[in-house]
Amino acid sequence: MAGLSSERLAEVKDRLLSRKKNLWLEVKDQLKSSIGDGYQEMLATARDEEDQATVSLMAETSLTLLGPKRQELEAIEEALLRLENGAYGLCEVCGHPIEPRRLEIMPEAPLCRNCASQREKLAKATGR
Ligand SMILES: [Zn+2]
Repeated sequence: MAGLSSERLAEVKDRLLSRKKNLWLEVKDQLKSSIGDGYQEMLATARDEEDQATVSLMAETSLTLLGPKRQELEAIEEALLRLENGAYGLCEVCGHPIEPRRLEIMPEAPLCRNCASQREKLAKATGR
């Protein structure tokens, strides 16, 4: 494990989970006000524990207004998975530990600062 204590990991998990919960509520609100009755019913019955299925539902609906929030939710989801399998805190691209300061600000960050800025440059260059 990349030098992160189990206490630290538990803390990160807490933060991710509560962030996820808040985001999820915001997304639900947004969905409710922007889409039809069919989805409203679905969302009303979706519980937080089952949200993964609903996240893929959102992916299918590809609502552009949810873009940033959906991306963040997915990033959090992935960070939680990495916590589970012990890969948390390691850059997905280069495999080096992600700067602790960076994880402090953005606990769901999948990339170290170097790789993230390179990816950003690339995204800008290709227009995504
Ligand atoms: Zn990296």
